[in-house]
Amino acid sequence: MCGSSPMNLIIFSVGRDSIANSQSIPKKKTEKAVWISVIGLMATNGYEGGLMMIEELTTNAQQIQDEELGEILSRNAGTEYLRGFLHGQTEKQLFKKNVPIVTYEDLKPYIDRIANGETSDILVAEPVTGFYLSSGTSGGQPKLIPVTAEYLKKGPLVGTFSEPPTMRHFGDINQAGKRMELMFARPEIETPSGLKAATFSTSMYSESKFRTNLPKLYTSPIETIFCPDPNQGLYCQLLFGLIQRDEVVKVGSLFASTVLRGIKFLENHWQELCYDIKTGRLSDWITDSGCRNAASLIMKPNPEQADLIESICNYKSWEGIIRKLWTKARYIGCICTGAMRQYTTELEFYCRGLPLVSAFYACSETFCGLNLEPLCKPCDISYTLLPNMAYFEFLPVKNERDESFEMKSNDEDTELVDLVNVKVGQCYELVVSTCAGLYRYKVGDVLMVSGFYNNAPQFQFLERKNVILSVDHEKTSETDLFKAVTEAKALLDPLGFILTEYTSYVDTSSAPGHYVLFWEIKGKEGKHCKELDPKIMVECCSRMEESLHYTYKIYRKRSIIAALEIRVVKQGSFEALMDYFVSRGTSLSQYKKPNCIKSEEALKLLDSRVMGKYFSPKSPL
Ligand code: AMP
Repeated sequence: MCGSSPMNLIIFSVGRDSIANSQSIPKKKTEKAVWISVIGLMATNGYEGGLMMIEELTTNAQQIQDEELGEILSRNAGTEYLRGFLHGQTEKQLFKKNVPIVTYEDLKPYIDRIANGETSDILVAEPVTGFYLSSGTSGGQPKLIPVTAEYLKKGPLVGTFSEPPTMRHFGDINQAGKRMELMFARPEIETPSGLKAATFSTSMYSESKFRTNLPKLYTSPIETIFCPDPNQGLYCQLLFGLIQRDEVVKVGSLFASTVLRGIKFLENHWQELCYDIKTGRLSDWITDSGCRNAASLIMKPNPEQADLIESICNYKSWEGIIRKLWTKARYIGCICTGAMRQYTTELEFYCRGLPLVSAFYACSETFCGLNLEPLCKPCDISYTLLPNMAYFEFLPVKNERDESFEMKSNDEDTELVDLVNVKVGQCYELVVSTCAGLYRYKVGDVLMVSGFYNNAPQFQFLERKNVILSVDHEKTSETDLFKAVTEAKALLDPLGFILTEYTSYVDTSSAPGHYVLFWEIKGKEGKHCKELDPKIMVECCSRMEESLHYTYKIYRKRSIIAALEIRVVKQGSFEALMDYFVSRGTSLSQYKKPNCIKSEEALKLLDSRVMGKYFSPKSPL
């Protein structure tokens, strides 16, 4: 789902009214009590009401979870899907015993039937009103996630919680100024039954409340968000963000990769942007009529502003550029954990000193949790799961450090753990049941319990479950890869080079197969990556192999796996990769670069941009 901004906007600009008038006051006992206390508080204390509610929810986590499941079952036990397992019963124990743990693939036939026109009650008692399209770039095709009226009622709730922890530190930014957020909508698609499917972020940008409040709270006009060409939209969003730079109190996007995409785009276009600001005329290549109309309303010649921006961008080093351009920005808001953690070093370089805040953890299936310590370092971020968003269960997963852990041969034999019963230090795969027809559904995210806040557990995001490299029986996870890359790229840093992007795949075109890493490297302060000594790259290959897990090293020693290879690609290759996925329907707002390339075409795209290939010279053992 991942939609902090629109949600936040809705609740903080119109939220108090919508709470007061709410038809969605929960029927459930605990939640209702919490609501009553928060309505009064929010009327007088703003975001402190939200903080209070978080306290209540986390304190009553067990009870709220039980109520959440009770409600899901009492509504949906009669659906075709659940009837097969529960025979109309609604007891928690029966649910735990009989309802299988599933993936999207298991539910897909039911979801497809609804998308093709059958009645919703094969899966969910309430009518399905549409679908969210999950981004699908980390795992393959976008998924269709059913949406119902009850599910949509959770939206305003999310807004109530997701910003108060950040506002506690930075003040009420809605009162202080505007957000320069990069936002990109994708066209909706229509299913054969006539139901609409859109990414979560697109649905939020389409809300009338969002649109009404946009000019007051954001620098980007709606036309730039809905511009069919993301590059024209991005250019204009940067332009409007620069024109209104004195009002900007927050810079961000949903994901860290999109913020970096914006900075790189700025590096290539700042002179043109300054020229446009100076003359008050929009560049001719922006042909989208919506963007041009929006520009005509706001642009007027401003040579002074243009000169100031030019002098900042002209500076040799772009260290701290975000802070220099948007001097009143209090923080950068974007998700920077999980697949995004690889971008934090570079982002920290550009925002030097401005805190990076990764406020929440969410997916199209459900909102999950909040970061209650927004000022903590990206590597220490934990999310506290909110017990009123869905019914959460946890499938134990082997943690490298826990030798005593015994994996069962399949998930069916492993007992799921309830939210409040997870153990600190243990890793779990997240399993959710929602009011919109997902029952014991594996989201595909692996989390590690880092502690508790009141009675609600806090989790560090570890990795996507399905991203692994494997030549033989060894399995290399996203986290294994990240650690090895982190070790290896440390060799570049002192030489004035930064690894800006990486991805991987297993090359089995020759036997034995081997791991291939694509690296995009950038020179600091005007250096060109052609100046990079090939010996260093060979050393990076060795360092990566040394840092991979024991099984990999043994297999390498026995020549079951051939030498690891790094292919250095030209500048801009990963932007081209993003463009490729966006052209195939992925939302730029929700884009997550795959850490392992599975598409032939994406592979060809990267291979066509390779500048140098380097191999590890020897086995790491
Ligand atoms: P989507 O379904 O396209 O909205 O993507 C949701 C996925 O994005 C989640 O299942 C996670 O894998 C990832 N994600 C969302 N929020 C975070 C976060 N705070 N940290 C790490 N990964 C996240």
